[in-house]
Amino acid sequence: MAPISTETDYLVIGGGSGGLASARMASGKFGAKAMIIESSRLGGTCVNVGCVPKKVTFNAAAIAEAIHDSKAYGFSVQETKPFDFTSFKHKRDAYIKRLNGIYEKNLGNDKVEYVHGWARLLSRNEVEVTTDDGTKTTVRAKKILVAVGGEPTHGPDNIEGSNLGINSDGFFDIEKLPKKVALVGAGYIAVEFAGMFNALGSETHLFFRHDTFLRTFDPMIQEGVTNEYERLGVKLHKNSSQSKVEKDPSTGKLTIHYKDGNGEGKLEDVDHLIWAIGRTPMTKNIGLEEAGVKLDSKGHIVADDYQNTSVDNIYALGDVCGKVELTPVAIAAGRRLAERLFGPEEFKSTRVDYSNVPSVVFAHPEVGSIGLTEPEAVEKYGKENLTIYKTSFTAMYYAMMDPEDKGPTKYKLICAGPEQKVVGLHIMGLGSGEMLQGFGVAIKMGATKKDFDSCIAIHPTSAEELVTLK
Ligand code: FAD
Ligand code: NDP
Repeated sequence: MAPISTETDYLVIGGGSGGLASARMASGKFGAKAMIIESSRLGGTCVNVGCVPKKVTFNAAAIAEAIHDSKAYGFSVQETKPFDFTSFKHKRDAYIKRLNGIYEKNLGNDKVEYVHGWARLLSRNEVEVTTDDGTKTTVRAKKILVAVGGEPTHGPDNIEGSNLGINSDGFFDIEKLPKKVALVGAGYIAVEFAGMFNALGSETHLFFRHDTFLRTFDPMIQEGVTNEYERLGVKLHKNSSQSKVEKDPSTGKLTIHYKDGNGEGKLEDVDHLIWAIGRTPMTKNIGLEEAGVKLDSKGHIVADDYQNTSVDNIYALGDVCGKVELTPVAIAAGRRLAERLFGPEEFKSTRVDYSNVPSVVFAHPEVGSIGLTEPEAVEKYGKENLTIYKTSFTAMYYAMMDPEDKGPTKYKLICAGPEQKVVGLHIMGLGSGEMLQGFGVAIKMGATKKDFDSCIAIHPTSAEELVTLK
């Protein structure tokens, strides 16, 4: 391995979504001498254990659903073999490996020095890099970016045997489609994983603490998706908690002792228990406290909208800041920071706009959301200043299906003030993931209900309902 440079303009800790985007732009576009340190696999969470392998698995689940639905359209689909999850998993791994290589090549193209190792801050200008052979090198940097992301939160310590469960990283190691799987959590990951397992044919149990899941979303989404999961056959354990997890040493299967709305129970013969109860920032033992970088009570780095931390020359962005934990947000923050630090004068006050970030949950059906939920809008504008438009219908896709096979579509538009500016848009139904991006542009531009209405509908689609709401 070539020796590591000991001086650089920009040292980036973490080769995930945000770090890669920032280092590549600083070097490739603005000619700064940039170095990136990554301790695991290039691409970070999104590429290796997040968005990408998740979406590929979601696609497999969508195909399973399409095979089921095709019968209603007159196809006689003969499934000669069950779904080969093991081959699928290995093919998915190979795809990710190819992506890792492409990311490394892109760093080379942009002349970013890539070091595989562990980084630790020594001061506001110095980082200690420990490479795989144990060599420690101190690198002096004019600017340092901390983009170390997070890791899945471990199962609660007060639940005996919680360590017998896995987490979202472990999900991507599963080799055989489980017969029975249990998930604990109520956010994006629990809901996405439960939907995929159920569509692929696993008996799926979802444990959550309240009546609904996705509780940070608009009530229409919370109730709509929770009801739909129930209809689709996911076994929902509402208002539940777990007290103990045991493993049968001869079969390896788990037993989960729990309490839910129906009283105490135990779920036996579980192949995998997956904790999906949030993520924890990777801020321990990397010298942040010693360098004086301020952390919040949950261990996230405190950074302003320009990604400045409490220490000059040290910047932070992405999941480690815990603001909006999405890949495109980390990428945008990384690029804006590189522009601000290394770009021409016109970029000196550039930053990411953290408002109106569109987001999709790859649930069944997909969910899309941008802007305020109805309760947030009421709090901000007052009920009397809002006009809410809602629709609920059956998409034409289901026209050929028996009533019990028809899924819901629900849309809501929240408009504020006399001009009816759109301040919230919430959609659930087939195709919502692809639909949301365009509406996101309109809302960023300040669209009003009148603007929506003045756009001619595209027929026959589900999306047309959003420009014809009464
Ligand atoms: P990361 O991508 O986590 O990168 C941080 C990197 O830093 C890691 O590679 C880590 O190994 C490295 N590192 C940590 N400490 C050190 C150190 N001391 N020295 C060197 N390297 C270090 N977002 C979406 O927008 N859409 C989705 O569909 C989506 N799906 C997801 C599904 C799952 C299961 C998960 C877990 C997340 C998903 N996300 C999704 C969120 C998305 O993955 C993250 O928001 C994004 O990866 C954050 O990027 P980042 O650069 O902040 O951190
Ligand atoms: P989230 O923060 O989205 O959700 C975790 C939820 O789990 C909490 O909100 C809480 O809900 C529940 N919970 C917390 N502790 C416990 C507990 N002890 N027992 C039971 N339930 C508990 O975390 P995720 O891990 O799902 O995802 C992390 C982040 O990754 C997301 O916030 C998102 O930003 C990103 N992501 C994005 C995706 C996308 O864009 N499609 C997909 C996947 C992840 P409650 O209070 O209701 O109990």
